[in-house]
Amino acid sequence: MSLLFLCGATTSAAMANEDAHYVAARAAMVSEQIAARGIKNPEVLDAMRRVPRHRFVPAQEQPHAYRDTPLPIGRGQTISQPYIVALMTELVEPKADSRVLEVGTGSGYQAAVLAEIVDHVYTIEIEEELARSAAAVLDALGYDNVTVRAGDGYGGWPEHAPFDIIVVTAAPDHVPQALIDQLKPGGSMVVPVGPIHSVQELRLIRKEQDGTLREKNVTAVRFVPLRREEPQE
Ligand code: SAH
Repeated sequence: MSLLFLCGATTSAAMANEDAHYVAARAAMVSEQIAARGIKNPEVLDAMRRVPRHRFVPAQEQPHAYRDTPLPIGRGQTISQPYIVALMTELVEPKADSRVLEVGTGSGYQAAVLAEIVDHVYTIEIEEELARSAAAVLDALGYDNVTVRAGDGYGGWPEHAPFDIIVVTAAPDHVPQALIDQLKPGGSMVVPVGPIHSVQELRLIRKEQDGTLREKNVTAVRFVPLRREEPQE
């Protein structure tokens, strides 16, 4: 329970109503779209309940922010369906001390969900405008454990490697070797792999302590392509 005081009470009450509306929408999203489809990790479910997804989408998309669908975020890119964000987060088994690399910051939403659980998220976005706006939203929401960089994440982020977890949210046609090299022994990577502008396999890759890779295709997904800054031969 909270009390409202005199000054600016109208505005505060309006804001409180709006917040309550979004809190309820998120609770419904988690129970109907995410828990109902088998996501069990309580920390992931809590993170999905806490992160204000509507703050990561353009104003005209805010009324749809908690729907069971991806949404456009500008520059031809999309924020993934909430269930896919939850699934990718659960698959990599995030821990309080994990150091995470995300390739494809987009809106910054997946980074925020990870940042609720882990120690630090390093995230790279090739579209400078998206990197800038994601960083601004993450900053406004107080996520001081996320570092956003504008650039090509195909080669990972060697300065901060190795990572316990790598989450790739744009689809390459094969897994870039640099990302495998930057994964710690004992670490996990989730990446949609397959032909561009088509259906890809969401692949979970675990690196054993001896460096052996164990791979598993989890489900079919549809992501925007992982692009390169330099034209590829
Ligand atoms: N994780 C995002 C959704 C990402 S959409 C979210 O939560 O909103 C995929 C993003 O990957 C797009 O914004 C696209 O511009 C970016 N991208 C594509 N190729 C990239 C590359 N080589 N390096 C970094 N980002 C890339």
